[in-house]
Amino acid sequence: ARDPRAMITSRTAWDLGSGPSAGAAWNTKDLAPDGGGGFAEPAKGCVHPGLPGGSNGALCSISGCGQDGLGTGSEAGASPRVPLLPALLHHKILSVSWPDTANSRGLCRALQVETLKAKLLEQAQEISRLRSELGGTDAEKHRDLLAAENERLQQEMKACEGELRELRRQQQAPCRDCPHLQENTRLQEQLSQLQREAEETRAKLVELDLEVQQKTNRLAEVELRLKDSLAERAEEEERLSRRLRDSQETIASLKSQPQQIKYIIKTVEVESTKAKQALCETQSRNQYLQEQVGMQKQVLKEMEQQLQSSQKTEAQLRAQIMMYEAELERAHGQMLEEMQAMEEEKNHAIEEAFSRAQVEMKAVHENLAGVRTNLLTLQPALRTLTHDYNSLKRQVRDFPLLLQETLRSARAEISQAIEEVHSTNRELLRKYRRELQLRKKCHNELVRLKGNIRVFGRVRPITKEDGEGPEAANAVTFDADDDAVLHLLHKGKQVSFELDKVFPPQASQEEVFQEVQALVTSCIDGYNVCIFAYGQTGAGKTYTMEGTAANPGINQRALQLLFSEVRGKAADWDYAITVSAAEIYNEALRDLLGKEPQEKLEIKLCPDGSGQLYVPGLTEFRVQSVEDIKKVFEFGHVKRVTECTNLNEHSSRSHALLIVTVRGLDRSTGLRTTGKLNLVDLAGSERVGRSGAEGSRLREAQHINKSLSALGDVIYALRSRQGHVPFRNSKLTYLLQDSLSGDSKTLMMVQVSPAEKNTSETLCSLKFAERVRSVELGPVSRKAELGSWPSQEHLEGDSPGSAASPGRGHASPSPGQLSSRSASIRRKLQTS
Ligand code: ADP
Ligand code: MG
Repeated sequence: ARDPRAMITSRTAWDLGSGPSAGAAWNTKDLAPDGGGGFAEPAKGCVHPGLPGGSNGALCSISGCGQDGLGTGSEAGASPRVPLLPALLHHKILSVSWPDTANSRGLCRALQVETLKAKLLEQAQEISRLRSELGGTDAEKHRDLLAAENERLQQEMKACEGELRELRRQQQAPCRDCPHLQENTRLQEQLSQLQREAEETRAKLVELDLEVQQKTNRLAEVELRLKDSLAERAEEEERLSRRLRDSQETIASLKSQPQQIKYIIKTVEVESTKAKQALCETQSRNQYLQEQVGMQKQVLKEMEQQLQSSQKTEAQLRAQIMMYEAELERAHGQMLEEMQAMEEEKNHAIEEAFSRAQVEMKAVHENLAGVRTNLLTLQPALRTLTHDYNSLKRQVRDFPLLLQETLRSARAEISQAIEEVHSTNRELLRKYRRELQLRKKCHNELVRLKGNIRVFGRVRPITKEDGEGPEAANAVTFDADDDAVLHLLHKGKQVSFELDKVFPPQASQEEVFQEVQALVTSCIDGYNVCIFAYGQTGAGKTYTMEGTAANPGINQRALQLLFSEVRGKAADWDYAITVSAAEIYNEALRDLLGKEPQEKLEIKLCPDGSGQLYVPGLTEFRVQSVEDIKKVFEFGHVKRVTECTNLNEHSSRSHALLIVTVRGLDRSTGLRTTGKLNLVDLAGSERVGRSGAEGSRLREAQHINKSLSALGDVIYALRSRQGHVPFRNSKLTYLLQDSLSGDSKTLMMVQVSPAEKNTSETLCSLKFAERVRSVELGPVSRKAELGSWPSQEHLEGDSPGSAASPGRGHASPSPGQLSSRSASIRRKLQTS
């Protein structure tokens, strides 16, 4: 039923067509289609268009053909025709027996029917032609072909892609390190580009396919519509033929009943007119259908054109595909070439690597041989090592025991050794203490031999203050071989003096201190020490004792030394160092560190009955560092400055004392020691002109004279070991009583100026020094013990050049005698 050709055939059978001669000819034969399903050629032999008076042959022919035709019609056409058959046959049989008039009219009708049939045939032919023109089947075939072609192309493309993948896979492995990688990548990019284009083309093809499909669908729709219209026409035709048959039957029945016939004929005529009208309508409808067919043709043509264009596009696409394929082929070829080249390179590299590997292998073999020989030599070594290892292992196993044992014995040995060391130490300590006692004894003996009072001389350099010219000329010279001798040129005569030590102007503070530090340290051992600076004003007393900030004198250096010594003994001893500063002016004692410096202090006996002296109210500062000392000095200095209008004047007229007390405690023995270090910057020893001095100046001079004389007396008494020492004659000696008596040590630093103008004072000072020193030094001195110490005035009157005694009527050894004697004693001391 879907075969369009069959559909058209069945419809064409009922297409009655139209035309002016619709009612002209009716051919019964037209009702009999041929056996092949198509319309058979009209059997001319059976047609009797001009059969006069009717003919049986015609009936025979009609019945034979009609029967055949009805029996072989298409299913669609057969069923509606079945009920027509008896009536039509009846009508035809009846028509033979019609009378002339009626017969001629029937013939006319038959002719009309024939004409209509011919027309119908023409229409059928036309439709068949149209159908062939329509070429629906060809288009479909064409489409099928295209689809098949498309399928084939797709398969090819798939195969190509597979190949490509294979190639890529082959290419990937060796090409990793290939120098043509870039070229390859470029080609691959081209390839992917081409593939993309092919993909696009494929998409276009699919679109075209879709278009073709749509067109085919539209074609099918058009065909369906055509089929429907044909079916309608067939129905109409059947309806008409049925009516025709009915009319014919009616005519026949009318003919058989002549009375009624006329009426019926008339009716038929009337009906025939109606039939004609219907025929006309059918024709117009046919016309409309033809127009429709024409339109459909137009559509078909358009579709064909579209098909052609799509074919063209397809051809183009195919050409593109071909082009891409060619491109692919080329790329493939290139790739193959590159792969070939790479293969060659690879082979070459492999060969090279192989040859290299062979060489290396050879070396390795050689190495191996060496290693083998080494191994052979190593094996015994390994054996010995294993043996060693085993023995070591054994040793390690035994080591803890051994170690414990060794440790035990070592411990025992060590404790024994410690014990021995302890006993040795004890012994040593005992010996050391004995030695210490001995040393002290020896030291004391030495000091006793050397004299508790030692006298040093220090000559200051010529300064700007000395001025210029002959007055400022140097009058002091030294002995290059003897550092204890100095020569003074006084009034054209050279006077020589011998002291314990003489410091020339170039001697530094350090050098001076070197000589006094033994005294300072003995303070730690519990000795009392006095260091006096004696001399005229401006001779350098303060410089020697205090010094300058940049170059400190004995005071600071002594304290520093004490600190360092104390630190050194800190393991066994606890020491406390305290400092007091005082001034004696006009026989009045004042505290320089106290709150009220103007207050006159008194020297009193200790109430404990020890016979010791003390000064109530004298401030004592505990010092622990050099900084503390500096502070104390600064403080004392400031006090002194604020208390007087002219410091230089004042200081030269007063004695300045720095009293350092060192208290020690031996932690092991509990022994306590107390040593005092008295550092005294004496008032200027210059003589004040008796006539010129008046009032306070005279009083000052008297006080100074008194105190210095008293000092001389005390020292003299001490040296001469007199029973009575006149300490109480001055505040100074009284205050220093316990530091001058007993085991105490005294140093007198006689300061002199070398200037020509000062020679007279220098002479006095040096005489004083020499006398102090000479007290003990010889039989003459011993003799002198009986005499008394000369006063300042007496010193003043002494003539340096004369061999006369300094004292009243006391013979004093000449400098030459003194010098030779003292030198012999010094030598003795040195050897001892
Ligand atoms: P005094 O205290 O006996 O009156 P000073 O100590 O004040 O004398 O000294 C007087 C001047 O001489 C000071 O300017 C001092 O610096 C200087 N002077 C003293 N002795 C020395 C010396 N050994 N080296 C350098 N200058 C000195
Ligand atoms: Mg001074």
